[in-house]
Amino acid sequence: MVDLSPQYDELKAETDAAVLRVLSGGRFILGDEVSAFEEEFSRYLGVARGVGVASGTDALVLTMMALGVGPGDEVLTTPSTFIATADAIARCGAIPVFADIDPATFNLDPSSVEERLTKRTRAIIVVHLYGGPAPVARILELAGSRGIPVIEDCAQAHGAAIGERRVGSLGTAATFSFFPTKPLGCAGDGGMVCTDDEDLAEKVRMLRAHGARRKYVHEEIGLNSRLDELQAAILRLKLGRLDKWNEARRRAARRYDDRLEGVTTPRVMEGAVHAYHLYTVRSPERDLLKARLDESGIASAVYYPVPVHLQPCFRHLGYRAGDFPESERAAAECLSLPMYYGIPSGHVERVCDTLNEALG
Ligand SMILES: *Cc1c(COP(=O)(O)O)cnc(C)c1O
Repeated sequence: MVDLSPQYDELKAETDAAVLRVLSGGRFILGDEVSAFEEEFSRYLGVARGVGVASGTDALVLTMMALGVGPGDEVLTTPSTFIATADAIARCGAIPVFADIDPATFNLDPSSVEERLTKRTRAIIVVHLYGGPAPVARILELAGSRGIPVIEDCAQAHGAAIGERRVGSLGTAATFSFFPTKPLGCAGDGGMVCTDDEDLAEKVRMLRAHGARRKYVHEEIGLNSRLDELQAAILRLKLGRLDKWNEARRRAARRYDDRLEGVTTPRVMEGAVHAYHLYTVRSPERDLLKARLDESGIASAVYYPVPVHLQPCFRHLGYRAGDFPESERAAAECLSLPMYYGIPSGHVERVCDTLNEALG
């Protein structure tokens, strides 16, 4: 599915030197590399502030904590996402509320969002699933008129854009993961909160360090959640290649689009630029297709086989099969194909040949 070695091969000399520089500098937590990367990544996005944290999950938790989300609040999101989006809501003591998706893009359907808003909705988390931009503008209209903050979960969408603006610069705040396989990944765990709201950024900065602005003065109960210097040094180098690497994945995606027959290829929202963290097709014959790929020694994966509202950890919320038909149908039909920077064109052709033959 993924091979990260083309990224390392391309930056090996610089990466090795940067790691040695940090090791010999002897400063590992909250130093110059992290500040520089916070500056560079937020400038890349076009927002005022970035705060480096320990993971994409923590970025979500800290953003909601900083917004004052807590017990009794509802946070609305999509059931078609990685569990982290929803368990971060529960981790803050709030109640995850789901809305259904648009089957064409796998992302939240604004009309379903509108139906699920209540007086207790304290935030909306919009996920740009697989790297494909979600309709943030329409969701911002619904939220803005009610004063509800919108968090963009950009864990899969570094460098994706809508018109001239990158995702992550559109809502109240955005969260990123730098898990190794994400479009911008480090050599471990890492994350960031990005926002134009300086007070919100300051609050996240305080909460990531046990609620202290000054040493040993703890204004609030926070966490220990920091991006470290080694990861930041590596990420600074990779950020310089992000657009090029995303463009190469888009070329591979276009080849899949052109050659695949009989499956539904990903649709990109009009005016948007997809980051193709994953290249995900749909077919009612999904299980047969996956079996054929398995037999041919070709990797493929189902993201995500069980929609979040049907996960055992959310049983107590009382959702049932049938509550979000589009999300459930997507879970039954979706199949992600090999996609990474440096995927050999022969691999893409072989995947297409195998799938096209399987469907006769
Ligand atoms: C990966 C991911 C996260 C969590 O990021 P971690 O860094 O693994 O904690 C959150 N949301 C989505 C949509 C993700 O894909």
